[in-house]
Amino acid sequence: MSSIQRLDSAFNNAIFQFEKALSYPRKTIPRSVWTESTDFVAAVDPEGNGFVLSISSGLAEKSFQLWIKALTNCGFWADIAPSALLNADQMTQDSLVWLMLHEFNHIDLNHFKLAGSFEVVQRSHAASPQKLLNISRLCLEMQADHEATKMLLGAYTITEWRGLRQRVMAISGMMMLIELEDAKNNAEGRTHPKAATRIFQLLGHLAEMPLVQAQVEQDVSLRPQTGKKERQPLRAGQ
Ligand SMILES: [Zn+2]
Repeated sequence: MSSIQRLDSAFNNAIFQFEKALSYPRKTIPRSVWTESTDFVAAVDPEGNGFVLSISSGLAEKSFQLWIKALTNCGFWADIAPSALLNADQMTQDSLVWLMLHEFNHIDLNHFKLAGSFEVVQRSHAASPQKLLNISRLCLEMQADHEATKMLLGAYTITEWRGLRQRVMAISGMMMLIELEDAKNNAEGRTHPKAATRIFQLLGHLAEMPLVQAQVEQDVSLRPQTGKKERQPLRAGQ
């Protein structure tokens, strides 16, 4: 599967998860633009009356290479699932779906009224005072993380621990990849909170899942349907 095919597949899956998780009509789904580049870039920006989501093929490829490497490490997967049940394609898909859900939530939560754009690697171009903007941006990132995590992890059930662990790992992996890119960008400042902070929030959500009745009673059909047939691909901008 090519990196562009991975992005197409994840985009369709993310739209499906996003629409099922919302209890109100969604505002908009961005037009998708995949660029052929070895760079690690993802950005969502206003475009006319809508938005455009741009992601580089290099981001999908680096995600895939992360999971190829991780799944050759027995110590890594032993506590998650038998290796036969894990594969780098699915882990990459879950990582990319989470990243896209994160970007969709920036739009849905009206974050663009507070900051101009949200990008991995590059900085925002918004006109707010820079110091305030830098702090508020990190809070908005945490909020988008939380909503995306809720959507990807879905309902809690004791029969789906393997899938739950797998998706938590997929989210954590993407957070760490973004931190690696942020580290390269240190001269210009961080675009996202530290991975440790983001993973701490992720684990907080995970820990409370069985304790919150609404999570337990949530419609189990909202869970990602790992390995099942996906919807037909949408055209970019749909
Ligand atoms: Zn973001």
